[in-house]
Amino acid sequence: MTKIAFIGLGNMGGPMAANLVRAGHQVSGYDLVPAALDHARDNGVTVPTSAAEAVAGAEVVITMLPSGAHVLAAYRDGLLSAADPGTLFIDSSTIDVDDARAAQALAQAAGHRALDAPVSGGVGGAQAGTLTFMVGAGDADFQAAEPILARMGARIVHCGGSGAGQAAKICNNLILGVSMIAVSEAFVLGEKLGLTHQALFDVASAASGQCWALTTNCPVPGPVPTSPANRDYQPGFAGALMAKDLGLALNALEATGTAAQLGPLAASIYRRFADEGGAGLDFSAIINTIRHNSNLEVSA
Ligand code: NAD
Repeated sequence: MTKIAFIGLGNMGGPMAANLVRAGHQVSGYDLVPAALDHARDNGVTVPTSAAEAVAGAEVVITMLPSGAHVLAAYRDGLLSAADPGTLFIDSSTIDVDDARAAQALAQAAGHRALDAPVSGGVGGAQAGTLTFMVGAGDADFQAAEPILARMGARIVHCGGSGAGQAAKICNNLILGVSMIAVSEAFVLGEKLGLTHQALFDVASAASGQCWALTTNCPVPGPVPTSPANRDYQPGFAGALMAKDLGLALNALEATGTAAQLGPLAASIYRRFADEGGAGLDFSAIINTIRHNSNLEVSA
């Protein structure tokens, strides 16, 4: 049994903390939203009245917050000073690589151990305890964190040192964002050319166009009955999160001077999609933007 503080009990953090309780750990939690605290309490999480109290005496502190600014502020404004020396800080939020490295440097300067461990798998994966964790850490810190992460996830990948978990996450989502646009453009072109969705799927899913965006998250209803397109694009992976993650990828592309062309274009396409009504839809609904711009019925 490990004493764990969990900061940020939202859509992801709430069920992750509940899984740690179920695994027999002693979990104290904190969130700014009272409803999140009530829900956590119902799941067996102890909820003191401040983040500092939640962290006091904890061996591990996990943060699951909206952005790098939130993580850095939480670290600076009390978490690091309230924790016992040598506490293991795990940040599972999706944030800039540079912010992740800055957060770890702050934690280490305060006498703690720290690592980045962003996740994929969404709210369903958080509830089922089947998340994938991408970890940026030294070997000893990775080994210390792995048994805790294994209670919330099915796959724990040690990607390298500080920031490597965030780097892996945004590189993966860069592939995903671009490939979904490519698959969607191909289906819309097929519609224009009189090709059925099923015919294109039957060819491409068994040929060199094969990818997750096609065979698991297919943006048209029919060929893959479990894809969000079959339920009016209810996420799934929301457009707002794809726009956020590609924004982080764009920051990293610019910071590193990477000569990418499709990544920045995909980032701007999903940003506009999210701002113009797609934020709460699965990102595969980007196909309807392409249809709209092609003078086709969006309900096709
Ligand atoms: P969310 O908005 O549901 O939860 C974030 C929580 O943090 C909120 O409840 C908010 O009140 C709380 N919070 C903000 N500042 C705080 C502070 N200073 N102290 C305590 N609590 C604070 O978001 P989410 O969907 O749970 O996502 C969390 C992180 O996980 C994000 O970085 C997101 O990009 C990432 N992520 C989300 C998904 C997903 O499918 N939702 C998938 C993978 C990764």
